Amino acid sequence: MLGLMQSQPLLISSLLEFAERHHGDGEIVSRRVEGDIHRYTYRDLAARSRQVARAIEGMGLQFSDRVATLAWNGYRHLEMYFGVSGSGRVLHTVNPRLHPDQIAWIVNHAEDQVLCFDLTFLPLVQAVHARCPTVRQWVALCDTDRLPADSGVPGLISYEQWIGAQPSDYAWPSFDENSASSMCYTSGTTGNPKAALYSHRSSVLHAYAAALPDVMGLSAKDSVLPVVPMFHVNAWGIPYSAPLTGCKLVFPGPALDGRSVYELIEAEGVTFAAGVPTVWQMLLGHMKPGGLRFSHLNRTVIGGSACPPAMINAFQDDYGVEVLHAWGMTEMSPLGTLCTLKNKHLALPPEERMKIRLKQGRAIFGVDMKIVDGNGDELPWDGKAYGDLLVKGPWVVADYFRNEGASPLYADKQGRGWFPTGDVATIDADGYMQITDRSKDVIKSGGEWISSIDIENIAMGHPGVAMAACIGMPHPKWDERPVVAVVKKPGAEFSREDLLAYFEGKTAKWQIPDDVIFVEAIPLGATGKMLKTRLREQLKGYRLPGL
Ligand code: AMP
Repeated sequence: MLGLMQSQPLLISSLLEFAERHHGDGEIVSRRVEGDIHRYTYRDLAARSRQVARAIEGMGLQFSDRVATLAWNGYRHLEMYFGVSGSGRVLHTVNPRLHPDQIAWIVNHAEDQVLCFDLTFLPLVQAVHARCPTVRQWVALCDTDRLPADSGVPGLISYEQWIGAQPSDYAWPSFDENSASSMCYTSGTTGNPKAALYSHRSSVLHAYAAALPDVMGLSAKDSVLPVVPMFHVNAWGIPYSAPLTGCKLVFPGPALDGRSVYELIEAEGVTFAAGVPTVWQMLLGHMKPGGLRFSHLNRTVIGGSACPPAMINAFQDDYGVEVLHAWGMTEMSPLGTLCTLKNKHLALPPEERMKIRLKQGRAIFGVDMKIVDGNGDELPWDGKAYGDLLVKGPWVVADYFRNEGASPLYADKQGRGWFPTGDVATIDADGYMQITDRSKDVIKSGGEWISSIDIENIAMGHPGVAMAACIGMPHPKWDERPVVAVVKKPGAEFSREDLLAYFEGKTAKWQIPDDVIFVEAIPLGATGKMLKTRLREQLKGYRLPGL
């Protein structure tokens, strides 16, 4: 017997319709590429998103055709999120930090038909447009009077020209909720990039889950700043969770330096911000010397790479801001776990609570996870056993776009499909997961594993260290030994020996790195994560002391 409730597909357009009806005057504030601040409301967003849908219809694009963006976080990008997906086409957010050859490759692989870009990326478009034959229309996300006279990009029009003449009365179509809505290529360091292809259903379910109190806890009372880019896993789904809750949205545009982010947080009464650790490091670096304070910010979600304990402490102890450590990946839309305490933890002493907060957190309803050994056998949840982390759920990929059936899913002994995350983790008895490494970054020394994240976290606790990356170096006896590459804070003075001494007592003796290598910078990938493959290339020829 089936239930007798109304059957209504979960569609991205319904999020916007809801916001327009119930939070029509809710504010959306954007710092534009031009540098000025733009303000409008969910009502305006809805009207202009319908114009985008009309412009796409006018070009004769078919259902599921791809429309791409190369853009910062801002109101026009948000209009594309709803206009493209809502009309049944697929939004392809391209990461502008990728190499131009990779960008040309993914635009061709996705067969993008329209590509809308912020003028910051005009040089990039000039470099790749001739290699992107599927793109029928290039659109600059700017006012018409800002369009460069001689861009060198054939047929380039401004976004305002493109949508301006369109009426805003468009009825969002209804279709199968499993239809593709958007796509994001992973910036893998080897092989060609692979695309996660999200659906309306997966995006709406993820939006519901992300807004829950023990996840991001978003509400109409919040002012929300996604510093995490809209070109990387849909800015962790905030563009969808925001209209669902009616929170105020604040977009930073291209200005991601500490000063600009701080000013925006203060000017717009931001209560909640989301980003990767490197962004928050710049923010704290700007605030500390001037003794600056936050007036409204009360929590921040930090993820994308391990959040160093020193950062959690700084936010909490110095500024009274709660840090929610989060873990996820492109293939997971991206949220998998969030670290919030349970009722039974509230009475624990602060050090014990901190130990929990450092973990990547517990699973959100909708994500199932387990750790397995090399044979695929499940490992215990005791906080000690570590193994390959597998996940499944309605917003986890089943396959990559045009992957010719080579599904990435892992068939366990029960034959059910799990996605192998490539991360190595422990899970404790309360279900808190802790990443010890990417499987390819684990350091194997004398048959034991050393967590490069643990070593980096200790190094980051040293007051003179701005950034630290730990990698394994070949060793004839131990197989590998850890070394730590360190960027000093400006003006900091300490030696290799000082830092090695700092490790004493903070980890087992055999896990202390064999060497400290001072570097100008740690290479970062297109999403701000440390690129250890590149660091290893840079350190080619390096020999461990005494070898
Ligand atoms: P991406 O798909 O580019 O977002 O990368 C996903 C990967 O980033 C994960 O598989 C993890 O290796 C890493 N990652 C994300 N969040 C965290 C975190 N909080 N701590 C440690 N690693 C993380």
